[in-house]
Amino acid sequence: AASGLREKVTNQLLRRESPKIRAVDDVSLSLSENQVQGVIGESGCGKSTLLRTLIGLYEPTGGELVFDGRSTASFDKDDWKEFRRRVRIIFQDPFNSLNPKFTVRNVLREPLAIHGFDDKEERIRRTLERVELDPPEQYLDRYQHQLSGGEKQRVSIARALITEPDVILADEPVSMLDVSTQAAVLELLDDLSTNLGVSMVYVSHDLSTVSYVCDRVNVMYLGRVVERADTKDIVGDPKHPYTQALIKAIPVPDPLHDREHTELRGEPGDPVDMPVGCRFKDRCPERMEICDQKPRFVDPDADEHRVACHLYYDHDDHDSSMDPTPA
Ligand code: SF4
Ligand code: MG
Repeated sequence: AASGLREKVTNQLLRRESPKIRAVDDVSLSLSENQVQGVIGESGCGKSTLLRTLIGLYEPTGGELVFDGRSTASFDKDDWKEFRRRVRIIFQDPFNSLNPKFTVRNVLREPLAIHGFDDKEERIRRTLERVELDPPEQYLDRYQHQLSGGEKQRVSIARALITEPDVILADEPVSMLDVSTQAAVLELLDDLSTNLGVSMVYVSHDLSTVSYVCDRVNVMYLGRVVERADTKDIVGDPKHPYTQALIKAIPVPDPLHDREHTELRGEPGDPVDMPVGCRFKDRCPERMEICDQKPRFVDPDADEHRVACHLYYDHDDHDSSMDPTPA
């Protein structure tokens, strides 16, 4: 099932590929041990492409993917196999990502067989307990149609965890679950990242779930990272007008804490006909003339809170706050 799924995803990417479209442009992202990084943006901003590039499903047309100090460009078959054991993905749709003909036991057995683990039954039980499908006996012989949405996503998480990975890439892992189930699955992901020492890249369009599990957040807009900072600074001190709009769009549960509700104006730009300069300019309330030029990705207060917006640097002054690092 895992390899079948991988094929499916690759084909989708190939189908969508077109010489005019660059879904992700000059994005660099580095993940350290034990870190949970969020990638947030609207659908079509390139976050899924970024994630699939990170797992090696999609070959970068420029730049490189470096894992444990080695570029994947130099990987042979065995290196890729080991990479796939250590870097695992959780897909968005728990309803399509599990083989309907497989019991839970067989879903979890498959990666263990591929990667040559002994003691399969013991690992399967332990991993089911770890994702709170407990007692395991209750789940081992069930097929996916006999599981709830939340249980299916826990099986997907177990399938990712069972090979003892260093990195988990999660693509909208709770967006198809109902709200009460979402909270429980988010708590589980948070617990795993805190207690198992697994690094994670968590991709979502939903800032509230991202801020729940992530240490750092990358905000993407039309294929570029426009802001990157610790989660608390993204939420408490958003700098990019796009991030500010995302924060304002989060519903406020307390009606007394009244907040001006600004909707994002306009449609996200067209990736085939990319705006020149700042890609957010057609929707930006702060747009200036200079915004026809591509803004640099700068760290204005030198505190690792980076932003790509002309509001944050003085164009006459080539000082040290300038940072030529591409977003
Ligand atoms: Fe708005 Fe200009 Fe900043 Fe883009 S660079 S977000 S258009 S102010
Ligand atoms: Mg997506």
